[in-house]
Amino acid sequence: MKRIFLFYIVSVLIVLLGCGEDEKIKALQEEQRQLLSQKDSLLKRQSELEKSSDLTLVSDTVKAGNGLFQVLERMGLSEEERRLIVLSIQDSVELSKMRVGQKFHALLDGNKKVKVFRYEENPATIHLLFKTDSGFVYNRPEKTIVRKHSIFEGSLAEGSTLDGTLRSVGIPKHMVGVVSGVLQCKVAFQLAQPGDKFRILLEENFFEDSIWISGKVLYAEFDGKTVGHHEAFRYEDPDPKSSFNAHYTETGEALVFDGLRYPLDRLHVTSAYGSRIHPITGQRKVHHGIDYGSPTGTPVYAVAEGVVTLSGYDNLSGNKISIRHRDGSSSWYLHLHTRAVSQGAHVNARQVIGRVGNTGRSTGPHLHFGFKDEKGRWINPSKKTMIATPKLEGERLARLKSQAKAIRESLTETAAVAPQKAGDSEVLVRIRKLQ
Ligand SMILES: [Zn+2]
Repeated sequence: MKRIFLFYIVSVLIVLLGCGEDEKIKALQEEQRQLLSQKDSLLKRQSELEKSSDLTLVSDTVKAGNGLFQVLERMGLSEEERRLIVLSIQDSVELSKMRVGQKFHALLDGNKKVKVFRYEENPATIHLLFKTDSGFVYNRPEKTIVRKHSIFEGSLAEGSTLDGTLRSVGIPKHMVGVVSGVLQCKVAFQLAQPGDKFRILLEENFFEDSIWISGKVLYAEFDGKTVGHHEAFRYEDPDPKSSFNAHYTETGEALVFDGLRYPLDRLHVTSAYGSRIHPITGQRKVHHGIDYGSPTGTPVYAVAEGVVTLSGYDNLSGNKISIRHRDGSSSWYLHLHTRAVSQGAHVNARQVIGRVGNTGRSTGPHLHFGFKDEKGRWINPSKKTMIATPKLEGERLARLKSQAKAIRESLTETAAVAPQKAGDSEVLVRIRKLQ
């Protein structure tokens, strides 16, 4: 009994240090029950644990540009153990989807060998590796996830940004960027006017009804006086990893992965595209891009998914990055303080690729943002709103249409809807209306 208890203490220690929040105790107890149910193998591992009295816990989190290997290296694990951990976890975890802020914990024995390794993909998805005689054994304790559907309606407020308006109707702040990304694929927001209407259907997953884990936009609608009426539907392929999982118009035109995002969080144009007197040379010249004034160190995002074709330095442009997109066009980011991606790297939309700086021929910290069309000619970046992509066809288009129909039906249920069951997860529908 004493032996089991010791292991229990050790496990609770790992788990508590991993989360450190009271509301997770219930789930942790469930995790413990599962662990304790594997009594025989645990007894063996626990006797190993007893031999070394000086256990230490090391923790780290994923930082920008890190892979698992870098995190493990920083945690001080030997090359051999890093290799074993990657091998033992790679079939159960999508390592390419590691995100900044995710936590890792390793319990080390007196010889600095890993006894237990823990990776928190999110509060509800925890991956554990236990060291046994035959190597690391993988375990994933199951937790409860609650799924909620919410409808948000509103109209653009006078003098408010799109993101500000989306926040004001109650869209959670971690979803605002996703929602505006979907809308920006279709709507030229420079032309949107106060009073233009929008309607959003969100699906969000919560751990124990309160801790937000993930969310997606099932539907986004915008109805503007000058920009017109637009709708975007989320398409779900039978294969959850399919690159077709994205937003489309009802006729199958792809939206979200191909819509251009903004390169900075705050846009302050200091020099527009076109003919101008150059601030340093004094000559009249065409300015092949847009200058955004921004403090040194501000994160710069890729405006669309693509491949880095250039990451380097020259005396005029300073640190510069170019990304080629799927339709052959390319986006250009100049005068960067630092570059976070190298040539050949694949980047996602909104991925941080560097920081605003004042390198090269520049009079102050700013981002020069340029765009070339598929033939390599400079174009005005503000005229480009999306990357052309193939449409959904055949079976996929038929599936999109039936999914869009189901989404439309759920939108017309304007009264509060009682909780429903969908598979194993509870579905709550709450409707929120403003204005
Ligand atoms: Zn410029």
